[in-house]
Amino acid sequence: MSTVILATRSEGKVRELAPLFADAGYDVLTLDAARIPPSPNEDAIEAFETFEENALAKARHFFARSRGIPVIADDSGLVVEALGGKPGVHSKRWSGRADLEGHALDTANNAYLVEALRGRENRAAHYVCVAAFCDGTREFTARGETRGRILEAPRGSGGFGYDPYFWSEDLQGTFADISRDAKAAVSHRGRAVRALLDRLRRGR
Ligand code: IMP
Repeated sequence: MSTVILATRSEGKVRELAPLFADAGYDVLTLDAARIPPSPNEDAIEAFETFEENALAKARHFFARSRGIPVIADDSGLVVEALGGKPGVHSKRWSGRADLEGHALDTANNAYLVEALRGRENRAAHYVCVAAFCDGTREFTARGETRGRILEAPRGSGGFGYDPYFWSEDLQGTFADISRDAKAAVSHRGRAVRALLDRLRRGR
């Protein structure tokens, strides 16, 4: 069985990525399980203005520390039409709270989102995910997107990040209000990973 490292510190991403690779027959390692400790200022790896460049930068950074085990990284974010595409690649730290992580960071970002869209008629948004693969010989990326709109009040307690406010057009519910499998079927991350797995199966 092939082993891959899921190169993310986000528990929400690991919860979504791990079953997709496990179902495809991969033995999946988190960064902790692969004994790759956080290096100082890891956020600085993803300093580029495109999801593709950031995802590849993360995959290369962690492959250099993986002792030859292939690495999967993802860069993702929310693109809001009325905000000219913001927060985009800056989704993780949009609220400017460098002191927060996890749920507390999500809460701050969501408060910022609600405020930025207060009184706006156009609530259209989409999520983007670019998954990147690096094994030292091959490198490639695959993109997935999913469309929806931003609610004024949260619904549901699942998912992570902006999910309680993201009403999915495909599902007619928020990404926080559905099962992980239902989200994976239509989500930006599910779509990107399925495209990446397809390339891996075809060997290029
Ligand atoms: P990064 O890919 O680690 O730079 O961060 C992506 C950020 O985009 C996350 O921290 C979330 O704020 C947001 N995001 C990406 N994908 C999702 C998702 O599936 N649900 C909710 N928020 C997401």
